[in-house]
Amino acid sequence: MGTIVDFQTAFFRDTWAEINLDHISYNIEKMRENLRADVKVFAVVKANAYGHGDFEIASTALAAGASYLAVAILDEALSLRKKGITAPILVLGACRPEHAGIAAENNITLTVFDHEWLKNARHYVGADHQLVIHVKLDTGMGRLGIRRRDELEELEAAINSDPFIKMEGVYTHFATADELDTQYFKKQLNQFQEMISWFKITPDIIHTSNSAAALRFPEAHLTAVRLGISMYGLTPSLEIEPLLPFSLKTAFTLHTKLVNVKKVQKGDKISYGSTYEASEDEWIGTLPIGYADGWLRKLQGQEVLINGKRAPIVGRICMDQCMVKLPSPLPVGTDVTLIGQQGEEQITVDEIAKRLQTINYEITCIMGSRIPRVYKKNGEVTKIINNLL
Ligand SMILES: *Cc1c(COP(=O)(O)O)cnc(C)c1O
Repeated sequence: MGTIVDFQTAFFRDTWAEINLDHISYNIEKMRENLRADVKVFAVVKANAYGHGDFEIASTALAAGASYLAVAILDEALSLRKKGITAPILVLGACRPEHAGIAAENNITLTVFDHEWLKNARHYVGADHQLVIHVKLDTGMGRLGIRRRDELEELEAAINSDPFIKMEGVYTHFATADELDTQYFKKQLNQFQEMISWFKITPDIIHTSNSAAALRFPEAHLTAVRLGISMYGLTPSLEIEPLLPFSLKTAFTLHTKLVNVKKVQKGDKISYGSTYEASEDEWIGTLPIGYADGWLRKLQGQEVLINGKRAPIVGRICMDQCMVKLPSPLPVGTDVTLIGQQGEEQITVDEIAKRLQTINYEITCIMGSRIPRVYKKNGEVTKIINNLL
């Protein structure tokens, strides 16, 4: 895996994503200004940091004031350990009991929501390690977590009598913190407070808030918050965007270049299925990005930015390429911005999400591993990750 900073040799295709690490730091620092000083920040870096690159985002977040990382699966936590991250990491998802030992050996915190799981996992934790856990409570998300008092009491009794298990935290997850209607959110928070009172010994790290709750509800900050989407500079939802206490700075942009420019005649067809027909003599440019990169076929008709102006994608998007209608015969090598700003014009992650009838989270996550990630700090390229070379 390349970590060269030389644009000439780190990758050879004319398509790349740029990740502005200063924006990651900015978003965390601004968020910290909105939190009590003693509230910890968990940087959520699951799914390769929402497509941004796990190691780079984790390192940047930790330097900017996050003190804990969170991932979805054990493999992601181990991947960060392999890359040299020593900060505590919480696995938010389920993990098999047989793998509790691997977690303990690597100082990885697991989520526990089942007494049977713990009884089983216990046998896999070696005598020279302690398994650190956070207990997950289901207050209305219906995904993972304990719901009943007797289940929790049984689990807590098992934990408290076991020197090899350390219950460090307890948490829950909100289903609607990004919606204007706060009724269900409040119900979940109340249920969580009630469930916390069921503990004989309350764990130190008590956390409920994803980005939306962290940005909107100080009463849900408790002792830690888990920041994902907002750290990347994207709004948790369009409806709460006007309510955000500060404006987020998006870290992710996507770029390519014209690799071919041709004149076509009125009536000529473009791409598979010949779905586009030139209505006059037109200039058509070819871009080296396609659905295998996460630039999905449904983006047919989406615009891109060339010389600060919008140009539409015409014809079907292919696996590795797509075509745009150009305003004039532009030179091969001209920069094209798929997501980001050129002059006065901007294409946001939210614009792409809207066209695909989805949420911004999904857009950065689906950006293919074939796209090199170029990291910038203070306007300079500091690192390039190319998963192919
Ligand atoms: C993904 C995730 C988060 C982060 O949510 P954002 O909305 O991206 O801030 C927090 N907590 C849990 C349990 C998650 O799965």
